[in-house]
Amino acid sequence: MRHAFNGAVAMKYISTRGSAPALDFEGVTLAGLASDGGLYVPESWPQFSEHEIAEMSGLSYVELAVRVMTPFVEGSLTVEELRDLCTRAYGRFSHQAVTPLVQMDQQQWILELFHGPTLAFKDVALQLLGRLFEHFLAKSDDHLTIVGATSGDTGSAAIDAVAGRERVDIFMLHPKGRVSDVQRRQMTTVRAPNVHNLAIEGSFDDAQAMVKRMFNDDAMAASRGGKYRISAVNSINWARLMAQVVYYFAAALQMGAPRRKVAFSVPTGNFGDVFAGYVAAKMGLPIERLIVATNVNDILHRALTAGDYSAGGVTPTASPSMDIQVSSNFERLLFDLGGRDGAAMAEQMRGFETTRAMQLTNAQRAGAAGLFSSARVDQAQMAQAMTWANEKCGYVLDPHTAIGFHAARHAGLDASTPVITLATAHPAKFPDAVERSTGLRPYLPMRVGDLFERTEAFEELPGTYDAVAQYVSRHAVPSA
Ligand SMILES: *Cc1c(COP(=O)(O)O)cnc(C)c1O
Repeated sequence: MRHAFNGAVAMKYISTRGSAPALDFEGVTLAGLASDGGLYVPESWPQFSEHEIAEMSGLSYVELAVRVMTPFVEGSLTVEELRDLCTRAYGRFSHQAVTPLVQMDQQQWILELFHGPTLAFKDVALQLLGRLFEHFLAKSDDHLTIVGATSGDTGSAAIDAVAGRERVDIFMLHPKGRVSDVQRRQMTTVRAPNVHNLAIEGSFDDAQAMVKRMFNDDAMAASRGGKYRISAVNSINWARLMAQVVYYFAAALQMGAPRRKVAFSVPTGNFGDVFAGYVAAKMGLPIERLIVATNVNDILHRALTAGDYSAGGVTPTASPSMDIQVSSNFERLLFDLGGRDGAAMAEQMRGFETTRAMQLTNAQRAGAAGLFSSARVDQAQMAQAMTWANEKCGYVLDPHTAIGFHAARHAGLDASTPVITLATAHPAKFPDAVERSTGLRPYLPMRVGDLFERTEAFEELPGTYDAVAQYVSRHAVPSA
């Protein structure tokens, strides 16, 4: 093992499928997915003692972020560099506490993760990731071309995070006429020379298929001999998960950790957010329970209750960011619970990729049961949770958060255990669904209140791969 400048051992990351090379933090941040198709995880979990956790209470969000993330970036960033990046990333949040806690009743709390620039929890990780890209690319004198397809939240958070950053271009495809006005405007009103919004004829799946094709295009992707260092910003990127571990510590410390255990309820899609909670527990944070809340797209609920991980079709719901068929980050959990056997994991995933179904092993099921529980929340229950929160607490939940909150209230936890629901979006992002359940139309917060007056810019392209590839070639900067 290599020793970092400050004497600590550099953190290494290994792939869940066992055959990609181990990389350091800089390497995994720029790579995203591992070359063997797996996901990167730290070679071992850093540990904090009870005493070390107790000493974190009272720190500012930025200082806490530095404490929690330092072991993961060892060898790639100095503490000063990490602090500088965090200060700039979290300086853009509109609340002093960055992720404030709100009390709902004797047992229930809400952790507001939506005070970032695009009103979604994805800002917490992406604001840092954009700055990490810029920092590492300057060191290696390279250029990154981010290509993505979005039906909503990820696109706007990613665009905001990289707008104006050096050495990064972002090309975000959205299906023309099929995203909400708020969501489209949050992307198309960000005016920076490195931001390219592409409105594509066709559906979200068509746009997504073009992005996948570009990653595998020999002429385009540098990893295959092509011209551009193409990257994604979805939650398979380890740096995003790492940034999310911080707010689990922040919330638990406020509730009395490490003396007192808390539970978290997490509205879940790709299993990124709740996996960050698992990492926090592995690092020593006392967590009583992690509740995985799904909507009717319930593959994770079936996996955690019956060991059945099988993909069906996606049912569109009022909580679109949780409308998923497969949860990519679940592989990270299965790998860790299955004894970290990369070869076995590769085989399990190969089976899943062929049949779209797999059974969890006994070790995986037993391991998950120790910390996780799950709930499937349908449309009526979601609406009930919104109504209850509004009538009893005067608090307006967004549809995603309402799913987590319903699961939290029905988790059957002992009354002495505080339950913290992660609020993943501001209600004003989903005004129609909120109005249907509560009769209230939520206002956009002041800082984005002029969204509908800002000028939009986007390029309309026909729904063909060649049109998109040509556009990217004309505007992207080749890799060094
Ligand atoms: C992305 C998202 C989720 C799901 O988070 P995962 O990390 O994919 O589980 C939930 N709610 C909202 C509002 C989101 O944007």
